[in-house]
Amino acid sequence: MLYFEPNFVDEALVLLDRFGPDARVLAGGTRLRFALHPGDEAEKIALVNVKRISDMRGIQRAGAFLRVGALATAAALTADEQARTFAPLLVRAAESLGAVQLRNVATVGGNICSGDPASDLSAALLAYDARCEVASSQEQSRIVAIEQLLSKRAPILASGELLVAVEIPIGEHRCAYEKVMTRRAFEMALVAVAARCRLEGDTLNDVHIALAGAGETPLRAAGAEAWLRGRRLDEATATEAGRVAAVHDAKPVTDHRAGAEYRRHLVSVLTQRALLSMSSSPTSARSNL
Ligand SMILES: Cc1cc2nc3c(=O)[nH]c(=O)nc-3n(C[C@H](O)[C@H](O)[C@H](O)COP(=O)(O)OP(=O)(O)OC[C@H]3O[C@@H](n4cnc5c(N)ncnc54)[C@H](O)[C@@H]3O)c2cc1C
Repeated sequence: MLYFEPNFVDEALVLLDRFGPDARVLAGGTRLRFALHPGDEAEKIALVNVKRISDMRGIQRAGAFLRVGALATAAALTADEQARTFAPLLVRAAESLGAVQLRNVATVGGNICSGDPASDLSAALLAYDARCEVASSQEQSRIVAIEQLLSKRAPILASGELLVAVEIPIGEHRCAYEKVMTRRAFEMALVAVAARCRLEGDTLNDVHIALAGAGETPLRAAGAEAWLRGRRLDEATATEAGRVAAVHDAKPVTDHRAGAEYRRHLVSVLTQRALLSMSSSPTSARSNL
């Protein structure tokens, strides 16, 4: 196994280009380590540890966006004042991640690029309609909608590509994060719902709902969003939106952790809860642990 620690994005891109499909980007390593097989002599790997690249760190406002470097950790997000102000939904999702040891190293970029269907940060970014800055040696950098990236199953990025940052549009909205999991320190969500909206009086506008653990990728509950637009937010509306999300939007699978029908039920309940909590509080988050 070869190991590199580039200092700049360009340097990392040269390495990714040179080693092609044998190259692996290493960020926090919490997910990648399961994909490596030490001792397997047939496996040729060039590990590209990107942690020294300062351009991929940092959380700062850039015009109408909050720019979050791909190397920002869940802990950095929860501690950052600008993130708390401009991206509270992402902060709530980051707070829900694993144990403190995990939050200290798990990065936003790794969360997206691992392609896990139950990724918390990816779900929150989906609800924000965030956009991603992707660099490769072929083209310096391109902007891709997060929905487009996440709609693919892993690998999310092509060989030679590097996720540099995500950009979250800044705006006034209410938000809620609801999550059910079994063993917080060890496992990801069974299902999580990230929601944001604007309320004019009690009328819903600009509703965004993203589901984690409800399909083969994190996904938007487009049917429920369309049904909610312009409606009054009350218990009956929230219950029906939960039903629409569960029946029309969710595409849950059965695995060793939960059955598809149970996940569908969770989508319904958590969507309803997220909507109702947005009516009573501008920002809320709840998980079952
Ligand atoms: C015990 C445990 C509990 C967990 N609990 C949760 C949880 O509650 N919620 C949750 O969402 N996740 C959870 N995870 C999953 C994981 O920790 C997160 O997805 C984390 O954010 C991954 O980030 P990382 O920096 O460790 O990624 P890494 O492991 O370094 O990388 C993951 C993948 O992404 C690629 N990659 C990383 N960064 C980039 C980049 N900038 N550009 C291109 N490719 C890149 C890597 O090559 C690799 O394929 C858990 C994991 C463990 C082991």
